Amino acid sequence: MHRNDSTLTSPSATALATLGEFGLIARIASGVCSGEGVVTGIGDDAAVTTLSPGMQLLTSTDMLLEGVHFRRSWHDPYRLGRKSLAVSISDVAAMGGIPRWALLSLAIPPDSNLDFVDEFMRGFLAMAAEHGVTLIGGDTCSSRSGLTVSVTIMGEQLPERIIRRSGALPDNDIWVTGTLGDAALGLRLAEGHPGRSSDPRNSGVEEVGFLLNRLLDPTPRVSAALALAEAGVITAMIDISDGILADFGHIAEQSGVGGRITLADLPLSATFLSHTAHLSAVPYQLVLSGGEDYELCFTAQASSREKIVDCMKKCGIAVTRIGIVTRSPGVTAVTCDGSHYTAQTEGFNHFT
Ligand SMILES: [Mg+2]
Repeated sequence: MHRNDSTLTSPSATALATLGEFGLIARIASGVCSGEGVVTGIGDDAAVTTLSPGMQLLTSTDMLLEGVHFRRSWHDPYRLGRKSLAVSISDVAAMGGIPRWALLSLAIPPDSNLDFVDEFMRGFLAMAAEHGVTLIGGDTCSSRSGLTVSVTIMGEQLPERIIRRSGALPDNDIWVTGTLGDAALGLRLAEGHPGRSSDPRNSGVEEVGFLLNRLLDPTPRVSAALALAEAGVITAMIDISDGILADFGHIAEQSGVGGRITLADLPLSATFLSHTAHLSAVPYQLVLSGGEDYELCFTAQASSREKIVDCMKKCGIAVTRIGIVTRSPGVTAVTCDGSHYTAQTEGFNHFT
């Protein structure tokens, strides 16, 4: 696998201790460029930013805890830095927002290696640069039990382009971008579960790399979300972090509707299919409830189909119609013969 960061704690950790909190902040700040709307960035008591004319502010926050959301034995610091910001960017994108500014707080075990922090920041700032996000502040402190990463993101958008979970209507189509289940299968591989064929032709390093990368370095679908928001053709949207069943469930609940998802229409990658080909049936529970896809799920009227396909084609993002919004509540997944599929779990819930 990738770099093993048991190196987080090592004798060279003294470099971080010597640097101290203010030294670390200065080191982080030195890698940050100024960005759009930033009047005062890192270094004062608070950051000062200006919204673009007519736009509203979108704010979201996320925590990543070692042992809960990531393990250092799987997650190299560079991709952990990227993912820490990517999941927040994905939330702003899911509202149709333009991601702009981020705050980053780190609770770091005192014996940590400075290289780990440097690599984490290199990944975080690379993700920020890819999406025009500027780091404008945060906090650092010492942790007694593992690494904790907290990211607050702010974005902006014109009020009429902001897309909520609450707008889905009966008979709307349900759509998703990309493919589903890759990250969940990647997690099985990282955990060492037998989720792939024992046939060596199906276990190429490149293919495993694809699945792990979907887990460790997700791509927030910002350009697709912004194109959809601008086109004004969709009624509700969410990003898929806990599995399509659970996340579409949030749309359904907040819109006062239900949904029927057709299993055969769920978009699966060729890699997912080849790694599960030895199983007696497609492991749909990974696709429906595995989570961490960070794709978009949205709803739209049937009359908007052509516009949506066109719009996504221009972004170079695959899009698939997977079901229909129903008047009656509850979200079901149906097989080809119309019978209900019962998934093992409804997504990753932190409190179960
Ligand atoms: Mg979300």
